[in-house]
Amino acid sequence: MKLPTSKLPHLGTTIFTKMSKLAHEHKAINLSQGFPDFSPDPILLEEVTRAIHSAKNQYAPLQGIFSLRQTLCYKLNKLYGSNYQPETDITLTAGATQAIFTAISAFVKAEDEVIVFKPAYDCYEPAIELYGGKPVLIQMQAPNYQIDWEEVAAKISSKTKMIIINSPHNPSGKILQQKDLEKLQQLVKGTNIIILSDEVYEHLVYDNQKHFSVARFPQLAERSFITYSFGKTFHVTGWKLGYCVAPKELMTEFNKVHQYNVFCVNHPMQVAINAYLQNEQHYLGLAEFYQQKRDLFLSLIKDSRLTFTPSQGTYFQTASYKNITQEKDTDFALRLIKEKGLATIPVSVFNKNQQDDSMLRFCFAKKEETLKAAAEIINKL
Ligand code: PMP
Ligand code: GLN
Repeated sequence: MKLPTSKLPHLGTTIFTKMSKLAHEHKAINLSQGFPDFSPDPILLEEVTRAIHSAKNQYAPLQGIFSLRQTLCYKLNKLYGSNYQPETDITLTAGATQAIFTAISAFVKAEDEVIVFKPAYDCYEPAIELYGGKPVLIQMQAPNYQIDWEEVAAKISSKTKMIIINSPHNPSGKILQQKDLEKLQQLVKGTNIIILSDEVYEHLVYDNQKHFSVARFPQLAERSFITYSFGKTFHVTGWKLGYCVAPKELMTEFNKVHQYNVFCVNHPMQVAINAYLQNEQHYLGLAEFYQQKRDLFLSLIKDSRLTFTPSQGTYFQTASYKNITQEKDTDFALRLIKEKGLATIPVSVFNKNQQDDSMLRFCFAKKEETLKAAAEIINKL
């Protein structure tokens, strides 16, 4: 049989899978794909055991169990001054990835334009393209990765259906400030543009800075989907659980898709997470926990030939290796795995036209011993 033409002919396997596989093959220290190499809190695991033995093993409600939706809306409204309602404005998803895919697929049609800031996490553009939409790419420039709002104003057209933002930002580790959100609010005022705000790293913001969720801005929140991930917050990326909030009218369309691409998500895990979330410290303590890891990693590599400014958020640090070699970042990253035993992510894979700024991304969600072993390699480069 002749295969039909691919809907995504230019796509291969994600860089995360590629790099983790190579890391495994070459027994390299893996600071590439973003996941912790330490265990989640035993209290959370006990809650899971309890939930699995509590007869909550059949389908959950389509939007997720009500008690968890209540807890999450309460948490969001308390943190960001928003007004999300558990009955209508929230749905539990199979990770943020499914939330993002569902929000895009519920709205983006052929010829619609979606503004995406590069470097960008890699699941946005394929979803847009699958539905015939056109990603309109705006490149943020290394090393500061600021959004040029004048460029955004120039790129908004009558075809703009959606703008996707991500703060704290993967891969740059930068965060959007109040003035950025205000600018966005001005630009979309009077339009029908939907905002998709990917906030999976909401609790990973350092140096006493604040997370500017779109939920803090009523005029943005009224047109926004916001996506979150328990994988990031509770060190359980393998659970693939997250959620999405938006006003009722937007969520109604979201749920029309959600009910047919997954229907509902893991029931006992929802019960366990709801119990665990009752202690605020379980998420409010995260910034301090990861800031210590960032600071340890940066102090260990401060005399290396990498140059960097401390990550403001996420569990990623980007650094320039311009003082080490002129190689392409993809070549250098490969050589680092094969010859030096260290896996990282070359940032060009997230950039428009694979723009190469000699930057690598390092994940510091690792045990102290892993960070020390990685630093030893980095310091010899
Ligand atoms: N958005 C960003 C910016 C991410 O880094 C990730 C990676 N986990 C996701 C979304 C997807 O989250 P999940 O693993 O919950 O699907
Ligand atoms: N979010 C993770 C990262 O940026 C990867 C998730 C995945 O492998 N799909 O590394």
